[in-house]
Amino acid sequence: MRAGATLRLARSHLAGGGFDVFCGLPLYLLLKKAGKTVHLANLSSGALGFCDAENPVQALWRITSRTAATKYFPEMHLSAWLTERFGETPIFAIEPSGARRVSAAYEWLARTLRPDAIVLVELPKAGLTAEDIDLVVCSHLHTDHCGCNSFFRRATVVCSAEELTSAQSDTSGAYIAEDWEGSRPIETIAGQRDLLGDGRMTLIEAPGHTPGMLVAHVVLDTQTFVLASDAAPVRETLDQRYAPKGTWNVDIALKSLDEIARLERDGSKVIFGHDETQWRQIRTGAEFYE
Ligand SMILES: [Zn+2]
Repeated sequence: MRAGATLRLARSHLAGGGFDVFCGLPLYLLLKKAGKTVHLANLSSGALGFCDAENPVQALWRITSRTAATKYFPEMHLSAWLTERFGETPIFAIEPSGARRVSAAYEWLARTLRPDAIVLVELPKAGLTAEDIDLVVCSHLHTDHCGCNSFFRRATVVCSAEELTSAQSDTSGAYIAEDWEGSRPIETIAGQRDLLGDGRMTLIEAPGHTPGMLVAHVVLDTQTFVLASDAAPVRETLDQRYAPKGTWNVDIALKSLDEIARLERDGSKVIFGHDETQWRQIRTGAEFYE
């Protein structure tokens, strides 16, 4: 069943956001207007121990209009704003603390609120739900690139063997083991891989940011892309040829940047991993590329 039909039929929803629950508000208000019961949950931007909210399970806080906090905390203001308009509206804030705790928080929400549908904010824009996804590629295993793997319950996760080995032996705290341990089965690859067997998506080694970093070279009918992830997080890293803070090996990272620059010169459009300016300009969600 496609997402639109799922949303129409379901009466109670849990709308889960990633880092910014405000992006889910248009959908929230639309569902409310259609007479649905909607609960808001948000993967917050950091540790949540600074607020006095109810904390039913380890990584989950129930934020209300009466919650007090010692730091800037957008969920608190949003809850107050919604409460003023619709009556008491709690927002469930989830601490980014590894896949096991985050999914335990979602399990508690599913058990307690008993929603008919769980809405992740980005996928419905393309008419998809998490159940439609059968393959997840992790460019590398930093938490912001694999922390939600466990939500894709039908998917096989692919990453490089080198990345998994180095994440498993890491002692620097750059990785959270719960993100990949015991969530989804991981298929590791060594070297370059034609992922779908038709030349449409090739995973290419681009180490430097991490030891096993991968980028994807995607060939569509109309355009060719390089999905650069953190090998080139923003336009400036490519234009000014520098390796950002937190790079595992600067010399190796610069060689990978040179390879991405070569692919761009050959006509590929580079999609940077964290470039907000680019993200605002490219087609996303329902406005997909063919
Ligand atoms: Zn990273």
